[in-house]
Amino acid sequence: MSYTVIARKWRPQTFEDVVGQDHVVRTLRNAIRQQRIAQAYLFVGPRGIGKTTLARIFAKALNCVEGPTENPCGVCDPCREIAAGNSFDVSEIDGASNNKVEDIHAIRDGIQYAPVNGKFRICYIDEVHMLSQSAFNALLKTLEEPPAHAKFLFATTEVEKIPATVISRCQRFDLKRISVALISERLRMIAADEKIEVSDDALLAIARGAEGGMRDAQSALDQLIAFTGAHIEEDDVLNVFGLVARKTLEALVLAILRGDVPNVLKLVDELDHAGKDLRRLTVELINHFRNLLVYLHLQGKTDSLDLTEAQEATLKVQAPEAQAPAVLQILEILIDLDGRLRLALSRRTLLETALIRAARAARVVSLEEILRRLNELQKQGGGAVAPAGTIAPPAAASAPPPAASAAASRSAAAPAPLASAPAGAATQAAATQVRESSPADSATTASSQPPPNHEIAARPAVQRVAEALGGKIVDIQ
Ligand SMILES: [Zn+2]
Repeated sequence: MSYTVIARKWRPQTFEDVVGQDHVVRTLRNAIRQQRIAQAYLFVGPRGIGKTTLARIFAKALNCVEGPTENPCGVCDPCREIAAGNSFDVSEIDGASNNKVEDIHAIRDGIQYAPVNGKFRICYIDEVHMLSQSAFNALLKTLEEPPAHAKFLFATTEVEKIPATVISRCQRFDLKRISVALISERLRMIAADEKIEVSDDALLAIARGAEGGMRDAQSALDQLIAFTGAHIEEDDVLNVFGLVARKTLEALVLAILRGDVPNVLKLVDELDHAGKDLRRLTVELINHFRNLLVYLHLQGKTDSLDLTEAQEATLKVQAPEAQAPAVLQILEILIDLDGRLRLALSRRTLLETALIRAARAARVVSLEEILRRLNELQKQGGGAVAPAGTIAPPAAASAPPPAASAAASRSAAAPAPLASAPAGAATQAAATQVRESSPADSATTASSQPPPNHEIAARPAVQRVAEALGGKIVDIQ
């Protein structure tokens, strides 16, 4: 028997088989059940997520001898012809290569004839956005007054290129990228049937690499079977597709969250030497921090996140180390990086500088956070800090115990190299304290630059400010 690629062999043949597009399937089934079938349908979405598959199933549902039915039999002549792509009543046209007005005229003429062995004449145009302006005009004419037996199905990856007049004559369905969890699950089923052993991390890596496209995932599986045989591990997937291992990605995220710049640079060096795709890495980091941000905001509820169990466990571990405002800032840095990497010659330099900024951002305490913590201290009966809401440094400096408030406001306002700034002893003492436990700086600051005034640094109010800031670098950008 001849070999059929996985994507074709496993193309869903019924509505039940369609993965990850429940909203579309439900509407189409309802339309058939209620016999409210529109003249034209438009399927919108990125490649490889099921547009053509849905169009074919819908065509079978309409033209099956049992039809219109939600459950096309799959064995009658119309069903088999449509599945094989050679039904006389269903024409599949590629909009990219049939984009001229004459092509649309041919379609218009063909669709006038009554169906031969189905109930409808169905015209499916893939990549319909590729039609020329005059072709669209001709199509619009046809859509305005089609014969009752004519149905149009369109698919596109770029809906913004389709005239509004055409869209408004269609029922539009926006197909979603398929979740990593659903793709992994489907691949696991296929692998079991094909008698291929694939580890969980390998499945996850394939699904990650496919970016929501089932066809890409299935083609990747095909390629990997050809590459490795009947046993696939994560490393095989990573090698073939230039992806980064889940564990390395997680280590990098953790290093950024902890402000551990040396480790960030070491990991980037390893990945670059291993020939990993640094742009791809950036996209994966964006996805990860985005998940982390949503996880933090939803307080651990993960229903709306597309996660496998392993990924969810990772977020649970990382969440206590992360502050939502810092993660948001890291995300902004990474998104900016992604935009600039497209044009960059030296991707590694850009990546390194951006990740250093991200690692710094992770350790920065926002001004709001400082004020919040100072207020908390005051409520606890500290009394030694500036009144709630007081931001202006000069006013605060004259408040009763000057050391604490001056230290707080100065350290908040001063730029990064706080300890060396020519400022009062109180500022220096507090600054040193505040900087102390930043991992990159702790050694040098603690040993070679002891607080110049131990007396002030030892004051309870100053100590409390330093403790309240959790030993983080205070840096207002
Ligand atoms: Zn049938």
